[in-house]
Amino acid sequence: MPGPLRLTGIPASHGYAKGLLFRLDAATNAYVAKGSPEAEARALALAIEGASEQLAALATQTLGEAADMLEFQLAMLADESLAAPAFAAIEDGGPADQAWRAALDAEIAGYEASDDDYFRARSADLKDIRQQVLDVLVPASDLSLPAGVILVGDDIGPTRFLAVDWSQGGGIALAKGSSASHVAMLARARGVPMVVGLGPVPSDFKLPAFLDAEHGHVLLGPSDEAEALFHRAAEAFVARRRAAEESSAKPAATANGTPVRVLINVADPSDVERIDVATCDGVGLMRTEFLFGKPEGLPDEETQYRAYRKVLEWAAGKPVTIRTVDAGGDKPVPNYTVDEGNPFLGLRGIRLSLARPEIFRVQIRALLRAAVHGNLKIMFPMIAVPEEFTLAAALFAEEAESLAKAGIEHVLPPLGIMVEVPSVAIAPELFADVAFFSIGSNDLTQYVMAAARDNTAVAALNSVHNPAVLRLIASVAAFGSANDIPVSLCGDAGGDPAAIPALLEAGLRDLSVVPAQLALAKAAIAGVTL
Ligand code: PEP
Ligand code: MG
Repeated sequence: MPGPLRLTGIPASHGYAKGLLFRLDAATNAYVAKGSPEAEARALALAIEGASEQLAALATQTLGEAADMLEFQLAMLADESLAAPAFAAIEDGGPADQAWRAALDAEIAGYEASDDDYFRARSADLKDIRQQVLDVLVPASDLSLPAGVILVGDDIGPTRFLAVDWSQGGGIALAKGSSASHVAMLARARGVPMVVGLGPVPSDFKLPAFLDAEHGHVLLGPSDEAEALFHRAAEAFVARRRAAEESSAKPAATANGTPVRVLINVADPSDVERIDVATCDGVGLMRTEFLFGKPEGLPDEETQYRAYRKVLEWAAGKPVTIRTVDAGGDKPVPNYTVDEGNPFLGLRGIRLSLARPEIFRVQIRALLRAAVHGNLKIMFPMIAVPEEFTLAAALFAEEAESLAKAGIEHVLPPLGIMVEVPSVAIAPELFADVAFFSIGSNDLTQYVMAAARDNTAVAALNSVHNPAVLRLIASVAAFGSANDIPVSLCGDAGGDPAAIPALLEAGLRDLSVVPAQLALAKAAIAGVTL
């Protein structure tokens, strides 16, 4: 039995777990050949159909991000080009299981070779799909994953994650994996500890293992002292999380009583279904890209109107800031964004909206109509020069006038901008006629530091703590308060307890955070003395 051993990876979802290791790739039964290419093709078609039915059934039991992810997988399974190479191999005499595996392996290799984190992370979905179909073709003796164990493997698909009863504890330790994967998002949303990038985990270790997903370790056979340290850190983590949850219903304030507004970032409108509006001060950023990235194509006015109205009604009068579509960069949208050598510096966000006014006008009309249902503010992403704001605002005015002429109910909301391109942060006085500023620290940091937000090789440079980034944030906050222009921050740093003290010191009093960070952000604010 090996040990003591400490493996180190990257935390993908914070927390601690102790449990037996359970291998995700445990042996399955052998495939029974069907005898003819026609029978093999039929077996594969039925397996794809069976897997789709299982996914659809699972989708009806899930909400928000998980439901989206399942829809994404269903759309991929429905795409005939995915299985075409497998059916071709079957025609050449191959068995269905090998043909399917080879076809998916080739597709996965393509995704894994991508330079883009987003596409690499999506390879986990393809592996999940590969497994779903294989599970129908070659039923294993027992597919259910036990509760309370630490799942170990190269990677884990979202549907297998959703099949586990996490109420009994447990965690995930992956040799590969990615913190940007769908599974990592699900794990964070559900508080399941997860570490990725550990390298090989010994499969013959039979004692309980210790997963420290706060610092990214797996301990096998630790010394008594290391085990005691693990338990102390785990207890402290649980106490911090509990204290944070208990205080999450109260408005946030610093230790010396300065109020801070904490809003939430949403993407899919169903994100708000699990959140009590009383725990936050509204929505500081609703990203609308999710509506544009669907397999069925770009969304029509009615689809958008319903999505915006749903969030506004949920907010019950609290402010909701919806951002016009920020496609491009790390968020490509089929049939909309263009192929570019350097998409982060290309036709992205407001630049693309202004270049495609026929598409932008549809979103504008949906927003103007939805504004009737709550306290809406609109913001434009990737603004670099004042003319972009002027042009976008003019389109809003034109569409409002045409709705008025048609007698359609609408409201023209306050129009603000993201501060995420350094030109705006350096010279905010050029934008003195906007209704508000919202600092996009994710992009502002990558552009100030010339370190891409999705490139782990330069992750250390991509830091909001760099004095250059903090100085720009402070100067925008000072400009806003001197000129009565509200300034908030909606990048990921707003929900990062390690960054919150510096952001408050920089003068910010409005932060918008991912819902999973709401309680921890409030707790971090309560620990700051200004
Ligand atoms: C940001 O850049 O900080 C931001 C909030 O926008 P996004 O992450 O969607 O680019
Ligand atoms: Mg941005």
